[in-house]
Order: sequence, then C-alpha cells, then structure tokens
Amino acid sequence: MDTQRLVSDPSGLNAAADILGSGGLVAFPTETVYGLGADARDGEAVARIYAAKGRPAFNPLIVHVADVAAAQRYGLFDVATRKVADAFWPGPLSLVVPLAPDHGLSPLVTAGLDTVALRVPAHPLAHALLTRFDGPVAAPSANPSGRISPTTAGHVMAGLSGRIDAVLDGGACSVGLESTIIGGTPLALLRPGGVAQEDIEAITGPLAVASEQITAPGQLASHYAPNAALRLNADHAEPGEVLLGFGPMPCDLNLSDRGDLVEAAANLFGQLHALDARGAPIAVAPIPNTGLGRAINDRLQRAAAPR
Ligand code: AMP
Ligand code: MG
Repeated sequence: MDTQRLVSDPSGLNAAADILGSGGLVAFPTETVYGLGADARDGEAVARIYAAKGRPAFNPLIVHVADVAAAQRYGLFDVATRKVADAFWPGPLSLVVPLAPDHGLSPLVTAGLDTVALRVPAHPLAHALLTRFDGPVAAPSANPSGRISPTTAGHVMAGLSGRIDAVLDGGACSVGLESTIIGGTPLALLRPGGVAQEDIEAITGPLAVASEQITAPGQLASHYAPNAALRLNADHAEPGEVLLGFGPMPCDLNLSDRGDLVEAAANLFGQLHALDARGAPIAVAPIPNTGLGRAINDRLQRAAAPR
C-alpha cells in the first residue's frame, strides 16, 4: 500500500477521519509521540495495528477521545479518577477505568480485560482529528515493534511507510515521552510518563505502589485469562470440550473460517470469553505462527500455561 502524507489542513483532517471511518490506519501527532490510530470499535482495524507494527503480543491499547464527555461513554469514572481527568485532560495522562456498559469497544483493544485505558490528548491536531472522527481511536506509538517511538512524521514514514494508510503531518511532538498511566483502586501509578507523579499526587494524595508485575511497561500481570483449561493445537474436541476453530472445520466457534489471521485476531478475546462462559475446557485449533498468528499464539500459550 502507498502511505499518504496528509497535511494539517481541513482537507487533510477530513481525509484522515475518512480513513479511520473505513477501518484504515492513520498515524497522527499527539503531544507525547505519534500514535498509530484505528477505530477502537472495529476489531479488524485494531488487529491491523498489530500487523503493521509487527507486535509479537497483544497488550491493551490506549483509547484516545476528544474530551471527558466522550471518555465517559467508554469508561466509568469514580470521584477520584474524575478529579484527575478534570485536572490533567487534555494532556499526557492515561487513566485505566472499568469499562462502561454498552461501550462498544473491540475486546482486542482491552486485550479482553474489563478495564480500559483512556486519554484525551492536548495536541490541537489530535483533538481536531478526534472531533472530526467523532469516535474512539486506539493508538499505540507509530513505530515498528521494538523501535524508538516516533516524534516526527518523518520517523513514522521511516518505520511504517507502505504498512499504514496515512500519516497526518503535524511537525515535531513537544513532550516526546509516553503518557503517564494511572489506574486501579486505590489509584496506582502504572507507568511513569509525561505528567509527573508529584503533580498527580498533589490532587490524589499518595499513589499506591503498583505490584511488581503491573509496573513493567506493556507487561501487565492483569492479562485476561479464561477460567477454563485450554488445550492447544487440537484438531478435534475430546468429549466434554468445546472447540475454538481456525479455518474450515467443525467447531463451536471459529476464529476465522476462511483462515484469515486479521479476522482471527479481531475475534480472539470475544470468542474466548464466549466459550469460557460455557464452563467447559476449551480446545483450540492450531494457528499458523506467522504474522498476527504469533501474537495470537503468544496469548493462547499464556492462557494455557499452568496457573
Ligand atoms: P502504548 O499504547 O504502547 O503506549 O502502551 C499502552 C500501555 O497501557 C501498556 O503498557 C498497557 O499495558 C497499558 N494499559 C492499557 N490498557 C490497560 C488496562 N486496561 N489496564 C492496565 N494497563 C493498561
Ligand atoms: Mg511504543
């Protein structure tokens, strides 16, 4: 694909919003770094973020919205998180809150968790794009997995040209650091970033110390894992098992009967939840270990590991 470089005028913003609306990927500037955006309600669009970045694992993504009112459509804010939102939004702070009823987000965005990370960015172009698109935008940093986060449109092109639909050029990012992430009850610092801990604590009081596992960036302990036992690389269900299929085969639910890994990624968490609700052990068909299949297998192996 040819990656368009869109300029920051109304026609560029409209083009970027249209691409998001049709399930495409647009890199856009925020005050932290350039984000790689997709419609957070569209599982296949979100799966394409992982494919474009070559990410080997599914971690929950931050959902970007235009203002606090929009954030409340997707997340539940208690008094403490609402105070923090009012103080630091728009700005480089992400808040992890419980999902709101009828949030409509793809389970791939939250990696199957019942919480969501939300942020209202301050960058005027990010704000203009979110307002025009009028929907939630999932956006990790716009770089290939394992490479440095991009702070110019040139960095984005150097890493992702040919793999995304467009980049909206807004010059250099001012903060250049990822957003601070806080969340949980009591409120804890999950990742240090663009807003100083002291400034948050001036409003919240001392933040809780997050447990070892949750502080490692991107390596949440609170990964969704089904209650049911998982048996991988199964070509059929044993008696009493339910079968999660891939490709044409008899099964209870199919990640993608046409064997499409993007579709499979989009369906993964929702179908695991649905089968888990049946209360039986889950057998899972083999998934090819290429492209998005790697991230799918990573998640399945974690879910199948003894715990
Ligand atoms: P990135 O978008 O690459 O800057 O990373 C997003 C960060 O937010 C990752 O470290 C995630 O683990 C964290 N995150 C996103 N959603 C949640 C959530 N629901 N609970 C806890 N952490 C989250
Ligand atoms: Mg990153």
